[in-house]
Amino acid sequence: MYDKFQAYLQKELADIEAAGLYKNERIIESAQGAEILVKGKKCLNFCANNYLGLADNPELIEAAKAGMDARGYGMASVRFICGCQDLHKQLEKKISDFFGTEDTILYAACFDANGGVFEPLLTADDAIISDALNHASIIDGVRLCKAQRFRYKNADMADLEEQLKAAQNCRFRLVVTDGVFSMDGNVCPLDKIYELAQKYDAMVMVDESHSAGVVGKTGRGVTERYNLRGQVEILTGTLGKAFGGAMGGFTTGRKEIIDMLRQRSRPYLFSNSMAPGLVAAGIRMFELMEESSALQDKLHANTDYFLRRMKEEGFDCKPSESAICAVMIYDAAKSQKYAAKMQEEGIFVTGFYYPVVPKDQARIRVQVSAAHEKEHLDKCIEAFKKVRAEIEGK
Ligand SMILES: *Cc1c(COP(=O)(O)O)cnc(C)c1O
Repeated sequence: MYDKFQAYLQKELADIEAAGLYKNERIIESAQGAEILVKGKKCLNFCANNYLGLADNPELIEAAKAGMDARGYGMASVRFICGCQDLHKQLEKKISDFFGTEDTILYAACFDANGGVFEPLLTADDAIISDALNHASIIDGVRLCKAQRFRYKNADMADLEEQLKAAQNCRFRLVVTDGVFSMDGNVCPLDKIYELAQKYDAMVMVDESHSAGVVGKTGRGVTERYNLRGQVEILTGTLGKAFGGAMGGFTTGRKEIIDMLRQRSRPYLFSNSMAPGLVAAGIRMFELMEESSALQDKLHANTDYFLRRMKEEGFDCKPSESAICAVMIYDAAKSQKYAAKMQEEGIFVTGFYYPVVPKDQARIRVQVSAAHEKEHLDKCIEAFKKVRAEIEGK
């Protein structure tokens, strides 16, 4: 059998490559950080989700080691069979305190949190109203649930209102949105979403993966940004981005919702508990957040500086309220040229084009971090100028 299947896969892979969509991984030979080592060469990293620069933070590394010393390497069980450690409960409490929510449930990743949130809560009598640009894990989670599906155009409140009207005869309605959309860096208009949800009797869920730690004056996410702390029924998020970048996901929100997820959410019931070292480091990470929001201040200053300087140099950047800066190139082939040449200059950025973004909306996505110093940002901007001169001849 395999020879036929192999031939089929080889052809499919060749097609992917011919379409220019084959994903090659770069191999990093250092810890994740502002500066990384690739093929023995130092480069500046502008494409990690390491928004607060915590991925190589010495205090978190220490906390992870201490957690392993105290509670071992692994849990080797799911929670409903073997229970969890005191550390897991402490981390859940920290997350609830951070977001001003009632309770929290941990998962191995936010992909699991989103995969396991809809099906236990909603049935075919209910409606899920989802932003068209929501993350793949939300799309998959919705697919696993029997609720009726409604989709509205990205952050389009007139369309959301239409969909809410269309869903009026369902029993329960849940509006679902990413906090920050990863291609444009725009923040969801949660104030208006919340207002419409009130008007049309719906609940709201926000995936804070790209916004937690970043958006809002102290990084508490979009509910801080819009003064809606504790008002949204469900938040999901990851420990794999701003919050240290290791692994772990969570759903946080209303007490009964979290209770029900503990009873019925499949990635919680049938997948391993987070490893003690990561949990201990997670607890320390939230302590750091409680102590100071200096990292947020630095990240916001860095992002403002980068965008302001890029605009001064004549680059076309999407407005951003997050750490994601989309430098618009429009032409797909050209965006790949930019990314490759930026890499030659020792700057890692990613070029995105159709179908990841709309046709003729190709861009270079720059992810700014609190780990970046001003000279890193300046180097990135200088590289953009040099590459533009080479490509555009100006
Ligand atoms: C990154 C991301 C996820 C997945 O998080 P993991 O913890 O890495 O699984 C889910 N949702 C959104 C919006 C994300 O950006």
